[in-house]
Amino acid sequence: MSSDATSTRMPAVFFGHGSPMNALELNRYTSAWRAFGQSVPRPRAILVVSAHWYIGATAVTAMPRPKTIHDFYGFPQELFDVRYPAPGLPELAEEVSDVVHPTWVGADIDSWGIDHGTWSVLVHAFPEADIPVVQLSINAFKGLDYHLELGAKLAPLRERGVLVVASGNVVHNLGGVNPRMVDQGFDWAQRFDEAAKEVMLGEPTEAAALDAHRDFDSAVPTPDHFIPLLYLAGLAGADGGGTNVLVDGYAYGSVSMTAYTLGRPGHPTETLTGAPTLPDGVPADSANI
Ligand code: ZN
Repeated sequence: MSSDATSTRMPAVFFGHGSPMNALELNRYTSAWRAFGQSVPRPRAILVVSAHWYIGATAVTAMPRPKTIHDFYGFPQELFDVRYPAPGLPELAEEVSDVVHPTWVGADIDSWGIDHGTWSVLVHAFPEADIPVVQLSINAFKGLDYHLELGAKLAPLRERGVLVVASGNVVHNLGGVNPRMVDQGFDWAQRFDEAAKEVMLGEPTEAAALDAHRDFDSAVPTPDHFIPLLYLAGLAGADGGGTNVLVDGYAYGSVSMTAYTLGRPGHPTETLTGAPTLPDGVPADSANI
């Protein structure tokens, strides 16, 4: 890693995080996340938009020592033992408020921290946990355009050494999970993921219009995991270009694992055997993944 992150424009990334078990595994997705982390200049801070902080307000974490949040159930103790002890950066919370003005952003000092949408990918991308992490919530009351525009407003942070990370899944239908389709996608899941790919590689500013796709309701039954993609799309739009695929694939029929980068060439990553797994007995449709 280079150390002069503040003199270069930081890349940005959308990770398809899938099951929290990915935090403990080494597979071709986690391998790609690691490769991404190793390829970027060392960030001053990481600003994460996670599917799992989906609340009734736009807010940023502003505590100096964010706690690791285990916001799921039914998983092995080993996963509850994971800690991601990265510091916070209260002044970044203020910078976020400034760059998105006049959009109002609340400062959260005691309710949230670092959730598994964030730490399940950062334990791979930045395993040292020594770079400050701030989370930006997803305002559940706002439409898709709001999130695309808010993503675009974050663009100046890239010039200030901030790595913007979005973490969700383009296709995320837990009610449709088929545990036997370990690394496959249903036809509708593939259609929607491919449509999203065409948009993200070509005209990311059109990403909010994906809600008109015939498979949107199946792929995005609730918007929480899809919306993080719009932040990367907004950043790409502010750049006037497209994004690159970091890694792609499917899990359990109804989850897409596709990840996109901005400002970094796409690299084919070494293919490892082993798809992400759910532990035996975990009801995928009820666990909060
Ligand atoms: Zn999730």
